[in-house]
Amino acid sequence: YTGKSESPVLADKLQEIKVHHYQSRPVLIEQSASVYEAICTMFLEDVGTLFIVDSDATLVGVASRKDLLRASMGGQSIESIPVSVIMTRMPNITMCEKDDSVIEVAQKLISRQIDGLPIVKKVDTGSGFEVVGRITKTNITQLLVDLASKDGM
Ligand code: ADP
Repeated sequence: YTGKSESPVLADKLQEIKVHHYQSRPVLIEQSASVYEAICTMFLEDVGTLFIVDSDATLVGVASRKDLLRASMGGQSIESIPVSVIMTRMPNITMCEKDDSVIEVAQKLISRQIDGLPIVKKVDTGSGFEVVGRITKTNITQLLVDLASKDGM
């Protein structure tokens, strides 16, 4: 199966499914937090990606499991390294909005080779973004399971 001959019905259906139908709760931490605190948060909240914010709750970066592993291997004390030093930072963050189609998100996850995206909303004052959700490969897999279920969606 090449994946290139899906029925137009399914393709149309996919276009109609929006990010907000399949989002998860975002887990945020402040950029001044240490790598140690970030690791604790990742375990306690059971997520693979943390969104890093400044004191105004504006998105400044993303930290993944491997970012934190890499930081832990450097030999420096992880209590003394701020997560802001090791995160992937703005403007290099791939984001989406709640009314984007999930298929657009899936394409971004594949092309950028990442596990998830922050769902953002433009802050009224200024140029930053507020994080309102999270969408990951797991959410996309849930969508696939729903599509395959007898009752449809
Ligand atoms: P892992 O690093 O644990 O395999 P990912 O594949 O999601 O997890 O992340 C790979 C790299 O991409 C990491 O350095 C991470 O900081 C970065 N990254 C993760 N999500 C995003 C995103 N939405 N936008 C930009 N970079 C991201």
